[in-house]
Amino acid sequence: MKNSNSQKIRVRFAPSPTGFMHLGGLRTALYNYLFARQNKGVFVLRIEDTDRSRLVKGATKQIIQTMHWAGIDYDEGPEKDGNFGPYVQSERLDVYKKYAEELVERGKAYYCFCDPVRLKTVKEAQIAAGKPSKYDRHCRDLKWEEVVEKLKKKPHVVRLKVPDHRLIKFKDIVRGKVAVNSDDLDDQILLKSDGYPTYHLANVVDDYLMKITHVIRGEEWLPSTPKHVLLYEAFGWKLPEFAHLPLLLNHDKSKLSKRDCCVAVEDYIKQGYLPEAMINFIALLGWNPGGENEIFSLDELIKKFDLTKVNKAGAVFDLEKLNWINGKYIREMKLEDLAHECKPYLESYLKKIESEIDKSLVNDQYSKAVVKLLQERLNKISDVTKGIDYFFLKELNYNPKLLVFKRSDQEKTLLGLQKSLEVLEKLFDEQWNQEALNDILRKVCEVNGLKPGDVFWPIRVALSGAEASPSPAELLEVFGKERSLARIKKAIEKLK
Ligand code: GLU
Repeated sequence: MKNSNSQKIRVRFAPSPTGFMHLGGLRTALYNYLFARQNKGVFVLRIEDTDRSRLVKGATKQIIQTMHWAGIDYDEGPEKDGNFGPYVQSERLDVYKKYAEELVERGKAYYCFCDPVRLKTVKEAQIAAGKPSKYDRHCRDLKWEEVVEKLKKKPHVVRLKVPDHRLIKFKDIVRGKVAVNSDDLDDQILLKSDGYPTYHLANVVDDYLMKITHVIRGEEWLPSTPKHVLLYEAFGWKLPEFAHLPLLLNHDKSKLSKRDCCVAVEDYIKQGYLPEAMINFIALLGWNPGGENEIFSLDELIKKFDLTKVNKAGAVFDLEKLNWINGKYIREMKLEDLAHECKPYLESYLKKIESEIDKSLVNDQYSKAVVKLLQERLNKISDVTKGIDYFFLKELNYNPKLLVFKRSDQEKTLLGLQKSLEVLEKLFDEQWNQEALNDILRKVCEVNGLKPGDVFWPIRVALSGAEASPSPAELLEVFGKERSLARIKKAIEKLK
């Protein structure tokens, strides 16, 4: 996509450091990034921290870390200077002040001296009369001399002089033509009494000064855009292109909000979702490239992403799909890497059950063998600790009834276990591998006229004590001869 006058494409992600990074924020960052990369443009990170009451310490750092984790690198921003900095709004206060004053001089904005008490009274009266609550423009037409006098003594804000009865129109790449009547807009505060700009002023001034060509952001900012359009007009600046990305929804189509579980990207990181999978999943929230394939690398996304094809309708957040995608990426990992990712989760889990485990099994080699068995089954890295205690416990504690498969009985099960034990005892260590072990169990069935349920099932339960686990041959191999035989003997005792 070319910008109308072939300017270099510059986009920005402009989060407010108010806490964790929302999934929607990550999607906004990603779409900006993809758009910048595919157009050989520039991706700016700008920190919008002018609402001092909502600031959360450490949030900016967290945003930067999360973007880095996701592989969404920005070209200009905090810690990465370009020619348009500073990129943190609280470091640009003089800029906003200058532009606010310029608007006042041009008659496009005005000083307002109304105190909170008066504003509250006006608002209450409006509500009581069933009218929309808007500033009543009390200070809009003060005489200049009066303004000068008051400026010396009274706290003040600067408000935008919203014109009456105007249809404000703009085009949005996602939503098409948008039109809003100016009568529905308030005389927006641009500069607050503490000298900080509001979001609207700072956002527009910075997008202009930072030469932003495309404003790509969440739909929740669509209602602010007409105010921004008025500001661009008031300054006499050309509008950037706008693209408002669809809301993220729960399955019941309600908006995915902070109150819902798991909207913080950091929570997914903690649970061991992989950045590649997360990016892949997030990219498909509101856009899809068509076709059957749903697995895309970041490079493929850069090639395929199409801002003009982003959906208007809200995107339903489907955790099952994320798990499926993440699982796919886990299956593709090198065992070495997967074991490395699993290590901290396993370590903290084993610490919790420290007193019950066989300490000789706490080593990287054994953990790697366990992880290898689980690779096919994991949806996220933290799953590696689910139902796996039998790999490490000194003693298994399970109900002997579990040893008997539902289509078998006590007698056949006992026979299955004893016959298997006899053969396994004779097996040399060098032969102790999955394939050979599988053959042996199959032969035990054949020779003794038993069914798999009489042999494979009880051996598996003898080793795991669990209703579901990897296959008996897989467990036998990982456990090794000595530990396997000991568990099978225990199971025989339990059954007798
Ligand atoms: N600071 C706003 C936010 O926190 C940015 C909105 C915009 O991109 O214009 O999302």
